[in-house]
Amino acid sequence: MIRIANLDFTYRGGDFRLAIDDLVIEDGTTAAVVGPSGSGKTTWLHLLAGILVPDAGSIVVNDVEVSGLGDRRRREFRIRQIGMVFQEFELLDHLSVLDNILLPYRITPALDLEEQVRVRARDLAERVGLGDKVRRPPRRLSQGERQRVGVCRALLPDPPLLFADEPTGNLDPETSDRVLDLLFDYAGERGATLLTVTHDHSRLDRFDRVLDAGPWGRRP
Ligand code: ADP
Ligand code: MG
Repeated sequence: MIRIANLDFTYRGGDFRLAIDDLVIEDGTTAAVVGPSGSGKTTWLHLLAGILVPDAGSIVVNDVEVSGLGDRRRREFRIRQIGMVFQEFELLDHLSVLDNILLPYRITPALDLEEQVRVRARDLAERVGLGDKVRRPPRRLSQGERQRVGVCRALLPDPPLLFADEPTGNLDPETSDRVLDLLFDYAGERGATLLTVTHDHSRLDRFDRVLDAGPWGRRP
């Protein structure tokens, strides 16, 4: 369960403020996060993931008070609990598809890169239709294929929470559906919580809940 209470956050040196009095998201919920550009959707996801730290209030994720953890524990929490899919894919072009999927394991001591992880990475690539492309660099993939690499990377540690920040923002409708299917299939099978920022109002009925970020952002 995600529980937010009396949350208050302002960027240092910035003027954007995000405030939420009370918000609960039950385990296994699929939620779309909507709201105009600049309303604080990315900021909100980063607060939940422990990338940003609130000035006041609490964020509890699966019984962990994220806002109360020190830097190192907060990073570990994020690595183990949260799979993040980015709008801009965030793939490294000097690494192969397979190594991009394995990236979290290569850069963090909190995760062990055992043989079974490599096997699972290949299985995931296979499942999303990239089985024959794992040796390629991302630049030799289509946009949709690149985003599928991003999804595989997010799913590899088997996270109970999956966050996707406009994951289909750069994709055509058919490819968007394919990427959304992957996120929903995972959430359904794993019983994971799925939070997806989206501007695509034609697909909102796929989600259990729609959260409007509009009222969260304030300008002092
Ligand atoms: P959204 O994802 O809904 O488009 P964001 O959460 O990215 O909105 O941004 C919300 C507001 O915070 C915007 O006005 C943006 O300019 C501002 N903002 C984002 N990142 C920073 C930062 N690092 N420092 C200062 N202001 C920021
Ligand atoms: Mg954003």
